[in-house]
Amino acid sequence: MSESLPAATVRTQVTVPLRFSDGYATTARLFTFDGLVDGREHLAFALGDVTGAGERAARVPLVRPHSECLTGDVFGSQRCDCGPQLREAVQRIADVGGYLLYLRQEGRGIGLYAKLDAYALQDAGLDTYEANVALGHDEDERDYTVAAQMLAALGVGPIAVLSNNPEKTEQLGRLGVRVTEQVPTGVFLSPANADYLAAKASRAARAADLPFVR
Ligand SMILES: [Zn+2]
Repeated sequence: MSESLPAATVRTQVTVPLRFSDGYATTARLFTFDGLVDGREHLAFALGDVTGAGERAARVPLVRPHSECLTGDVFGSQRCDCGPQLREAVQRIADVGGYLLYLRQEGRGIGLYAKLDAYALQDAGLDTYEANVALGHDEDERDYTVAAQMLAALGVGPIAVLSNNPEKTEQLGRLGVRVTEQVPTGVFLSPANADYLAAKASRAARAADLPFVR
């Protein structure tokens, strides 16, 4: 019952050594694409042994669809947990083999400026979802069509999804991606993101009994 998925193709692939601020280093194979439905420049990072040939290779690659968060991923903003989640995902995927899909859908898909508008509303008392709605957006506008397109272009079969969000797994399933398992990520609590994480945890589809890290 999958929707028909427009075909995308690999445009370029290139090897890039990665080093994070805590010293963790690995090597990624970066893929760019032609034909992604929204025309944005999404990236796939192949990490670890994805060929299936090595002893530690996972039969089913571990895949993290990560939505871009400029403030969290790049600047270490403490208002969300995106930076630590990205850092954790890269290492966990590199350990077993798989892909990090870096999706250019900032602020749950509403964009960077609107995300900061929403922060201002949150400072006035709304939670992260209420703020998006107050700005005329849906609670969550993320769409994983391009993630499914990238996996198809890479020739990836069944995957394990690294996420705490069942919505990602459901959307990928509807798009024809076979998900064998949803693997939870850590939850990264800081004083500044406690309200944000509480709002995430209180939403119906999200597991409230996640393990807390840090
Ligand atoms: Zn974030």
